[in-house]
Amino acid sequence: MKRILGAVFLALLACVVERDLIWGRPESSLRGFFPADAAREADFEKVFRALPTPERAQQDLMILTQAPHVAGTAEDYKTAQYVLSQFREAGLDSSVVEYQVLLPMPKEVKVDLIEPFKREGPTPEGGWTWDKDTYDSSVVPAYNAYSPSGDVTARVVYANYGLREDYQRLKQWGIDVAGKIVIVRYGQCFRGVKAYVAEENHAAGLLIYSDPAEDGYRQGDVYPRGPWRPATGVQRGSILYSMLYAGDPLTPGYAATKAAKRLALKDAKALPHIPTTPLSYEDAAPILENLGGPVAPSDWQGALPFTYHLGPGASKIHMKLEMDFQTRTIWNVIAQIPGSVLPEALVIVGNHRDAWTYGAVDPNSGTAPLLAVARGLGQLLKQGWNPRRTIILASWDAEEFGLIGSTEWVEDHADQLARHAVAYLNMDVGVAGPHFGASAVPSLARLIHDAAQEVNDPRTGRPLDAVWSEESQRVRRESGIPIVVPIQTSSPPSTMEARVSELGSGSDYTPFLQHLGVPPWTWGSAAPTAFTTQCTTTFTGCRTSATRLSSTAWRGRRCSAPWPCAWRTPTFCRMDTTITARPSRNTFSNLKTN
Ligand SMILES: [Zn+2]
Repeated sequence: MKRILGAVFLALLACVVERDLIWGRPESSLRGFFPADAAREADFEKVFRALPTPERAQQDLMILTQAPHVAGTAEDYKTAQYVLSQFREAGLDSSVVEYQVLLPMPKEVKVDLIEPFKREGPTPEGGWTWDKDTYDSSVVPAYNAYSPSGDVTARVVYANYGLREDYQRLKQWGIDVAGKIVIVRYGQCFRGVKAYVAEENHAAGLLIYSDPAEDGYRQGDVYPRGPWRPATGVQRGSILYSMLYAGDPLTPGYAATKAAKRLALKDAKALPHIPTTPLSYEDAAPILENLGGPVAPSDWQGALPFTYHLGPGASKIHMKLEMDFQTRTIWNVIAQIPGSVLPEALVIVGNHRDAWTYGAVDPNSGTAPLLAVARGLGQLLKQGWNPRRTIILASWDAEEFGLIGSTEWVEDHADQLARHAVAYLNMDVGVAGPHFGASAVPSLARLIHDAAQEVNDPRTGRPLDAVWSEESQRVRRESGIPIVVPIQTSSPPSTMEARVSELGSGSDYTPFLQHLGVPPWTWGSAAPTAFTTQCTTTFTGCRTSATRLSSTAWRGRRCSAPWPCAWRTPTFCRMDTTITARPSRNTFSNLKTN
């Protein structure tokens, strides 16, 4: 009898503990809910959260990353059709929304060293026999989208990261870059800024290379021994002057519909004017090694095995780029669930779908969770749930070219969104590693923590918020940053909570925040190396890295690792429910900036 009582007690305790682990606090304290509604909400969230599985996320990712799917291609269209089919299967009212936008593709890219010796480039990216995708000829050659075509032969100057202050220093040292081909390394700023500043300084052409100091062997073992960029890996990416305006360069401020009036190419202010192309460090090395002029200062030295000079000097380059500038169709996929109480109010959840290569990390590790959200909401609808506000799920196209699909859609619905959008929840890279992080407007930070308290970290089984906080404290301690960072909310000043970062730009929340003042957040989980953050996650540039994660880590062989498949999907779903289903006061307290 005693034993039975003991067992019952333990079972009850287990329920309490389990409940506490899941919810983190009594239901009646759900932020934004009256106690009477909180239980009902909790029940729906339970149903929602039980649905996503790692296996399904993996299956979606396998399908989405079957082939490289650059925006505007037939393969990209296939992924749009897949997302549409999944939205519809979930029972959501969905459609494909097309725009016609300017998307340049490379026809020819040549970077030949012609003095002091002849060497043809660029070198093809390396392949590995056990990874067939590294030999896939349908992968787009490495290029910087929106570089003009051009044919330039000139001597070379090294300008560090290509920031304005770098050119000022060159000027102080008496080095003129006008008419030269400038070579700069990736890092410190958006690559479009490098092109803009090189143009400002009258360079004849621009080469942007990945230095092993930031993105190669100085950081650790390179692929395949380690995760860092190998010698021939190249970072692809757009140099559209999206700091002037994002979206289709020919329809600034209005949607690129079929009937829209388009600027002539020469009048589009967001288009760069000097030929620009990315290089691997294998191809940059002989150019840099043969520069003359003064020795570059210590903070300009990279990790290649020689002393860097500023130039010019012996190195002379023939650079020939031929780009195919065409207006092409892109495909956003939009699903809508009408709100039952405030139907005019909109909560938008978005992720882009297009990728430079396979997109296994950027962006389709965010697309799999988006599909899980669709299925979860569809299931709730079947059980009699209705969202309070209208929910829109969006699968954006052509983000890699310059946030184009999202910007055109936002421009298309600008009045409605400016008046009625409550929040925009973005996920670009869902999973590059196990370390959770989020950026948001301050008024949404509390809500992210609330949700993170209610989801368990799959590695430890403990509430995500606690694990996230501990990790961020450790990082701050190791980097010498003060640990206690009071977040802007109702938290006590002694809070040790992880910091929700500020939003910059570079993903699809930009048109919502910077154009309309709609409050967004964006989140994902990163790896401890810059290979994923710089190469695969943020820039998705190098074919090798993207390939590696698509075919090896993601599309099967290494998916037994617990974190990639297992953890993001439920987290994301849970958090979406939190904001979409709750009438949170937070979301109303955001100021619209225009
Ligand atoms: Zn992305």
